[in-house]
Amino acid sequence: LRRNPGEPEFHQAVREVFESLQVVQERHPEYSDKGIITRLCEPERQIIFRVPWVDDAGTVQVNRGFRVEYNSALGPYKGGLRFHRSVNLGIVKFLGFEQIFKNSLTGLPIGGGKGGSDFDPHGRSDGEVMRFCQSFMTELHRHIGEYTDVPAGDIGVGAREIGFLFGQYKRLTNRYEAGTLTGKGLDWGGSLVRKEATGYGAAIFADEMLKARGSSFDGRRVAVSGSGNVALYAIEKTEQLGGIAVTASDSSGYVVDDDGIDLELLKQIKEVERGRISEYAERRGGRARYVAGGSVWDVPVAIALPSATQNELDEQAARTLVANGVEAVSEGANMPCTPSAVAVFRDKGIAFGPGKAANAGGVATSALEMQQNASRDAWTFEYTEDRLTAIMKGIHTTCLETADEFGRPGDYVLGANVAGFRKVADAMMAFGVI
Ligand code: NDP
Repeated sequence: LRRNPGEPEFHQAVREVFESLQVVQERHPEYSDKGIITRLCEPERQIIFRVPWVDDAGTVQVNRGFRVEYNSALGPYKGGLRFHRSVNLGIVKFLGFEQIFKNSLTGLPIGGGKGGSDFDPHGRSDGEVMRFCQSFMTELHRHIGEYTDVPAGDIGVGAREIGFLFGQYKRLTNRYEAGTLTGKGLDWGGSLVRKEATGYGAAIFADEMLKARGSSFDGRRVAVSGSGNVALYAIEKTEQLGGIAVTASDSSGYVVDDDGIDLELLKQIKEVERGRISEYAERRGGRARYVAGGSVWDVPVAIALPSATQNELDEQAARTLVANGVEAVSEGANMPCTPSAVAVFRDKGIAFGPGKAANAGGVATSALEMQQNASRDAWTFEYTEDRLTAIMKGIHTTCLETADEFGRPGDYVLGANVAGFRKVADAMMAFGVI
């Protein structure tokens, strides 16, 4: 705490993982002897830089850029870039720390990293976003590459931003090194299913948890928070699995649509027009209602897929969900449930899939994008989706089996933390003290 002051999200993430790891340390004292835990508290490299750019009014703006290259035991640093006004070093470190174990759980050769900026793209023109991205990449390009560090999207960074970033990377390096960034457009090295992967994966993980307890999505009401990349495709997969997604939200409020969210309308508003969630209710002809502010978790549902941002579902919200009969919660976002909310779900026997397992489908498909780039190949949607589904089912099985092995059946938090950690720790042991 003294070494990393003012980084509450980072402390929260580290505490949550290390509490789970006590059972591993008891069985494997060599991990402590070799300082694995101590080393995991410190990123391998942290880069902070100035991002100057000129807005449409001709005014010079300055933002702060970050890239935390957290751990490369299993492969090149891999993790998204977040552009949001709340971004600071502690948030980037928490995300990078989580990313290590998530990437390990996918079974693919990727290390953990994360980056971003306190730049807020809301209300900015395409030209402003482009100039910001070009300035951001002008510094970042020195640190990244197919074999070193491979950024992707996250909050505020979608296909448009990845395009501007990749264009500037290509220009600065004079190399068409497609495997340096993932989440690219389909015509220039992107992978089918990458856009859908995180949301699809979170719903598939929920489905696996339900099946493991003899239940299913069939005809059940599902609450999804957010209306960004993860949320849209969590809704799409929910509908494919037979569930009825009845909510979506943004930072201003939420909508409830008891007939099931009209996904085409929602995609038009969010992906094409970049509008607000309130417009969904306005254009749904009285079938949906908009609630300004409030908590989307007040809506009675059987399944919850929090897919907006960290700490968006607190203890009170968890108690409301439980009182309304929730059966499974699968984290599409990173750390959306507070520790006390997770404790409520655990105490009440709710199936709870932590983000590092449940939302690993996005980074897994990014690693599949890297595979396609390395082989100059492009796979079909069906083949790529089959790979994603198999990876998600594999992560679910790994978490369950690991929880059983350590005497905590059904504890996906413990299963994910321990299984993710072991592979990283074993690789770090093999490399010696570095
Ligand atoms: P987007 O930027 O596409 O969407 C984010 C959504 O969350 C928006 O609807 C946004 O609303 C809402 N939101 C953001 N901050 C807040 C807040 N403070 N309070 C309420 N709502 C908020 O991001 P993604 O969908 O890509 O990411 C969502 C989450 O999923 C993040 O936690 C991210 O780290 C995680 N994730 C994403 C992956 C991916 O592949 N994209 C992979 C793995 C995890 P508004 O427009 O009002 O800000």
